[in-house]
Amino acid sequence: MRYQGREVDIEGRVRLVMESALTARDRVGVQDFVLLENYNSEAAFIENLRRRFRENLIYTYIGSVLVSVNPYKELEIYSKQQMERYRGVSFYEISPHIYALSDNTYRAMRTERKDQCILISGESGAGKTEASKKILLYYAVTCPTNDHMAILGDRLLQSNPVLEAFGNAKTLRNDNSSRFGKYMDVQFDFRGTPVGGHILNYLLEKSRVVHQNHGERNFHIFYQLLDGGDDDLLITLDLERNPQNYRYLVKGNCPRVSSISDKNNWKVVMKALPVIDPDIKSCEGQNCPISITGCSDMHKHSQNSITENRCVVVLQLLGVDGSALREALTHKKLTAKGEEMISPLNYEQAVSARDALAKAVYGRTFTWLVEKINQSLHWKDSTKFPFSKDSSVIGLLDIYGFEVLQQNSFEQFCINYCNEKLQQLFIELTLRSEQEEYETEGIAWETVQYFDNKIICDLIEEKHKGIISILDEECLRPGETCDVSFLEKLEDTVGSHPHFITHKLANGKTRRVVSREEFRLLHYAGEVNYNVNGFLDKNNDLLNRNLKEVMCQSDNQILSHCFRREEVIDQKRPEMAATQFKNSLMKLMEILMSKEPSYVRCIKPNDAKQPGRFDEVLVRHQVKYLGLMENLRVRRAGFAYRRRFEAFLQRYKPLCPETWPNWHGRLVDGVSTLVNHLGYKAEEYKLGRSKIFIRFPKTLFTTEDALEA
Ligand code: ATP
Ligand code: MG
Repeated sequence: MRYQGREVDIEGRVRLVMESALTARDRVGVQDFVLLENYNSEAAFIENLRRRFRENLIYTYIGSVLVSVNPYKELEIYSKQQMERYRGVSFYEISPHIYALSDNTYRAMRTERKDQCILISGESGAGKTEASKKILLYYAVTCPTNDHMAILGDRLLQSNPVLEAFGNAKTLRNDNSSRFGKYMDVQFDFRGTPVGGHILNYLLEKSRVVHQNHGERNFHIFYQLLDGGDDDLLITLDLERNPQNYRYLVKGNCPRVSSISDKNNWKVVMKALPVIDPDIKSCEGQNCPISITGCSDMHKHSQNSITENRCVVVLQLLGVDGSALREALTHKKLTAKGEEMISPLNYEQAVSARDALAKAVYGRTFTWLVEKINQSLHWKDSTKFPFSKDSSVIGLLDIYGFEVLQQNSFEQFCINYCNEKLQQLFIELTLRSEQEEYETEGIAWETVQYFDNKIICDLIEEKHKGIISILDEECLRPGETCDVSFLEKLEDTVGSHPHFITHKLANGKTRRVVSREEFRLLHYAGEVNYNVNGFLDKNNDLLNRNLKEVMCQSDNQILSHCFRREEVIDQKRPEMAATQFKNSLMKLMEILMSKEPSYVRCIKPNDAKQPGRFDEVLVRHQVKYLGLMENLRVRRAGFAYRRRFEAFLQRYKPLCPETWPNWHGRLVDGVSTLVNHLGYKAEEYKLGRSKIFIRFPKTLFTTEDALEA
């Protein structure tokens, strides 16, 4: 009878709150970091992660935050039976799992009728996309549904392989790296049935279309098409199977990847496209990569090696007039003193015009694809986003984590800025929810000291004074501007900012750690040097006007949708890339602020993509970048642990004759009787309105060990 807790465990309903016996705790660590004795010690934190990782326990909580370590192997923990185990079970009563977090979020949405969001972060290869797929699958399998809605569930799931084919690529860090940020809302009706969805995409890495670093590939879809497309299709399109024949596909010298079957993935994509939308003819999906490989061929054309037939096919796909395109690719249109002038481009300029066209075609077609998926996910009763009031939403954010490469450019600048914003939101929301909980429970709020990264966000985004504004100004300034003049402008404007450094020291000497082409930002997560080469071009993201004019006349349905006539007529310059990104981030922050957040923090255990290897240095970096110690500190600032009265009584009532076998009075009195009997001191705990708050883990461990005795 003393083992009431254990019996419930056997039923599979309630597992241990923590690994209770001392020996087990030593072996597998604590399943919630708030229970670490020495919660300020990074070493203790990492040791706990390591112990659990060794035992294949890849999930650990920091309060309600789920920390996940990529196992790089298939674990038997994602079956339907596992889903059933976690269904309807309270967060803390069962071992940590992505399903527990999914289930908890779902129930919070239903019972509190409040929109939720799950923010997944971590560096490339840490397992964000896998986590988001597992969450989606959990909802697709466990939520109530009907025939009609089953189609929707299918579409939600099938949108993944399609977006991955077009938006993911093999990089040095991840064979299936998402090269865009993704926020997906799943909409549920009042019965809790998934009824709709909506995707927002962020900053696709378009430069990959024309260039890949050594050991990396272009987007998967190109290789899938060449490997998986049937013979007839390839003959019609005049394509050869060997990717070596297309220079856009072999810049990284790595057309094949052993862990990837392009052929099978092509089949999966071709099956998924009609599920998403029966009207998407498969050729529409193929159109974009073919056009691009076509563009790449034009390069050969300049060396007289493109075939006549290939030229015809490419022009057919682009739906444009051949001579007009040739003219636009080799000439520039200028307006001077009201007169239009045409001047020929030199070789480099023509190459860059062609690359710009390829990037624009790919980037815009990707956006079109997302729109198409969104149309297919919209519930018939609420075709508008944001969704109607009578439904609730769970949002999933799978976005690039903090990135520090050997060479960091415009893309890393945007990505790391995004992470600053998310960190700001995280601190704000965590503190807010802590404070709210204290208030609801009637417990006095204890102030928490933390680093506010607003100062860095301002440095980047402030109007007129921030780095993005200065970059835009430099792009628009008439006369000779270049990346170096941008750097000089930065030095003049934000040179004295405490989070900004260049090679120049105040005493006129030179700093070694930053080169003459770089600036360094001291991010909340660490220092990053950004090389300014290419910043202006990437921010400008310009397509020659005459290329735009040609593309606007395309009779290809998708491309004419992507290149609008208004764009040419409207002389107003569109927003530059960084500002566009900043504005889309602002909108994202608004969306997330209006929801109740949950967090998944993903960690990559080694760079070799191998199971069983735990590289401490690498993990330590991520613990720092993800702000996990700060997170733990905030969470532990007041009380290490909190539990609802009924759960606390249920678990520990065997330890006190007055509460055993059942307590019949008020719950709060039962808990009070119990802790008095156990000898808790006044400073060790507080009783709120519905929960007991325990300050030190030791108190709880002692109680747990008493259960075992
Ligand atoms: P990126 O930022 O580059 O998109 P990511 O964080 O999305 O990276 P994933 O693509 O989710 O990373 O994961 C990388 C690889 O790690 C997966 O392809 C898979 O092989 C492995 N992996 C990740 N999570 C798990 C898991 N829970 N179980 C088994 N393998 C996993
Ligand atoms: Mg990913």
